Amino acid sequence: MPTVAMVGLGRMGSAMARRFHGAGYDLVLWNRDPAKSEAVAADIGAPVASTPAEAASRADIVFSSLADDDALREVYLGGDGVVSGIQTHTIAIDSSTVDPQVVIEVGTAVDATGAVMIDCPVSGSVPVVEAGALTVMAGGPEEVIASVEPLLLSIAKQVIRVGDRGAGAACKLAVNGLVHGLNVALSEALVLAEKAGVRRDIAYDVFAGGVGGAPFVQYKREAFEHPEDATVAFSLDLVAKDLELITGLGQRVGAPMAQAQTGLEIVKAAIDSGLRDADMSAVAVYLRGDSA
Ligand code: NAP
Repeated sequence: MPTVAMVGLGRMGSAMARRFHGAGYDLVLWNRDPAKSEAVAADIGAPVASTPAEAASRADIVFSSLADDDALREVYLGGDGVVSGIQTHTIAIDSSTVDPQVVIEVGTAVDATGAVMIDCPVSGSVPVVEAGALTVMAGGPEEVIASVEPLLLSIAKQVIRVGDRGAGAACKLAVNGLVHGLNVALSEALVLAEKAGVRRDIAYDVFAGGVGGAPFVQYKREAFEHPEDATVAFSLDLVAKDLELITGLGQRVGAPMAQAQTGLEIVKAAIDSGLRDADMSAVAVYLRGDSA
C-alpha cells in the first residue's frame, strides 16, 4: 500500500485521514496548527511531520485539504512547502475548493520537480466523507487519476474525470454555485413559511417531501430545524470564499452569475451579524433576525 501524506487536517482533512487509515493506508500527517495533527495521530497512530516538505518526502501520495488559494500556495510553494520535499515518483492530489488558476500555478511547480499533481475537489460535507460517499471531480491525466482511484474510492462513491488539471476546480465552483444557491433559497423559504405562520418542522416536512427535496435539503434538516445545536459542517466564511471564487470565475469566462452575487451579499451580511464561524445553514438564523 502506498504511504499517504495528509496535508491539512481541518474538518474535511481529519475525516478523510480517518477514512484512508480505515482503508489500510499508512499515513504521515501535517497541519499548520499541530494540535489538529496530534489529535488525529492519537486516534490512528500515524506519525506527524514538522513541515509539509517533510510529510511529502515520506510519501508516495500527497493528499491536501486546505482552506483557500493562499493556503494552497503557502503549503505547496512556501519555504519547507510540499514542492521542496516531494519525490519524483509521488502523485499530489489537492481536494481544496480553490481557483482553477491557482491549481494550474501550483501544479506547474509540482511538475517541475518531476512529480505530478491532479486536482480532485469533492462534493459533500463531513458526514458524506465519513460515509465514503463523496463525489470527486478529477482534473488531470487519465492514467494518473486511474492509479489513485482506489484511494479516492475510500472517501467517494464516484470519481468523475472532468478534464485536464484545473477542470476539477472549475467544476467544483460550478456545483457549489448550485449548492450555495440551494442553501440561501432553503433559508429564505423556511423563514418565509415561519413568518407566515407555518411551524418550522411542518414546513420542512413539505420541503423534504416535495420536488425540491434534494439530498442537501434532506441531510441539512437537523441543522435547519435546530440551529442552536447545529454541528459546523461548512462554515459561513468558507461559503463566502466559494461565492467570491464562483462570481470571479463567472466574470472571467463570461457566465452571468446574478443569483450567486446576491447570495454572496446575503452571506456577507450574515457574517457581519456575528455568524462567521457558524454552519452554512445559519443563513436562516440571520434572515430570521436571530443572530447573536
Ligand atoms: P477547515 O476546517 O477550516 O480547515 C481548513 C484547513 O486549512 C486547516 O487544516 C487549516 O489549518 C488549513 N489552513 C488554512 N489557512 C492555512 C495557511 N495559510 N497555511 C496552512 N494551512 C492553512 O475547512 P474544511 O471545512 O475542512 O475545508 C477544507 C477545504 O475543503 C476548503 O477548501 C473547503 O472549501 C473544501 N470543502 C469543504 C467542505 C465542507 O463541507 N466542510 C465540503 C467540500 C469542500 P489550521 O488548522 O492550522 O487553521
